Amino acid sequence: MRNELQEALRNGQLFLNYQPQVDQLGEICGLEALVRWKHPVKGMIPPVDFIPIAEETGQIIQLGQWVLSQACRDAKQLLDKGMLNTRVAVNLSPLQFHRLGFLDSLQETLLSTTLPPVNLELELTEGILMHDSQGAIDILLELEKQGIATSIDDFGTGYSSFSYLKDLPVQSVKIDKSFVDNILVNRKDAAVCQGTITMAQQMGIKVVAEGVETQEQFELLKSYGCKAFQGYLFARPMTFDDLVLWMRR
Ligand code: C2E
Ligand code: MG
Ligand code: MG
Repeated sequence: MRNELQEALRNGQLFLNYQPQVDQLGEICGLEALVRWKHPVKGMIPPVDFIPIAEETGQIIQLGQWVLSQACRDAKQLLDKGMLNTRVAVNLSPLQFHRLGFLDSLQETLLSTTLPPVNLELELTEGILMHDSQGAIDILLELEKQGIATSIDDFGTGYSSFSYLKDLPVQSVKIDKSFVDNILVNRKDAAVCQGTITMAQQMGIKVVAEGVETQEQFELLKSYGCKAFQGYLFARPMTFDDLVLWMRR
C-alpha cells in the first residue's frame, strides 16, 4: 500500500471531490474537499482505507499538501468565476498540523494560489487539539489572525468534548454523523445534538450537522436551532466539474 500510495501521488491517481454545506433554506454556505483515490486496478479506494496508512507512513504530509494546494487552486477558480462567497474546508491530519513549518507552508500555498484566507477553512479533529493543547491553541490563534477559519470535525466522538470548547479559538464544530444518524430514534443522541447546538451557538461558534440524509433529520436539527447542514439529502460529494454544474443549477 505504501508503494502504491507513492505511485498514486506521483501519477495523479488522487483527485478531490467536493460536498456542499447548506443553510436552513438549502442555500450553499460552505464546501468540503474530500480526497479520492482511483487505483488503476483496484478502482476507487475510500479515504478511510488509505488515510490511516498515510498517517502511519508519514505520507500524509505529502498527500495533505497536495490536497491543500489542489483545493486552494479549485477554490480560486470558483472565486474567479464569481461562484464562491463561502469558504472551502480542507481536512487536516494531526501530523500536518503539528509539523514545524506548517504555518509557513500554508502561507506559501495561499500566496502561490492567490486564494484569499477568508475563503479557506481547516477541519481538525479533537485528537489534534488534545495532544499539546497550548501549542495547538497558539496555532489556532495565528490562523484566526490571518483570517483562516478552523472547525472541529467529528465533534462529540473524542473524549473531552464539552467544556474544553470554551478555551479553543475555533469558528465552528461539525456534529458527527453518528449522532445525526440516530437523532430520530435515540433520545440521547438527540440530546447530544441539541446540547451541542445550544452550547456552541451560545459561545458564538457555528455548528454544522454532518451526514444529514432525511428530511426528518433536517427538520429536527432546524428545530434545535442548527443553521448549517451537510449530507446526502442535499448533495453527495462530487467532482469539481459536477460541483460547478450543481452550483449553476
Ligand atoms: P469527514 O471529514 O468527517 O467527512 C465526511 C464524510 O462523510 C465523507 O466521507 C462524506 O462523503 C461522508 N458523508 C457526507 N454526508 C453523508 C451522508 O449523508 N451519508 C453518509 N453515509 N455519508 C456522508 P469520505 O469522503 O469517505 O471521507 C471519510 C473521512 O476521510 C473524512 O471524514 C475525513 O476524516 C477523511 N478524509 C477525507 N479526505 C481527507 C483529506 O484530504 N485529508 C485528511 N487528512 N482526511 C481526509
Ligand atoms: Mg471533514
Ligand atoms: Mg466528520
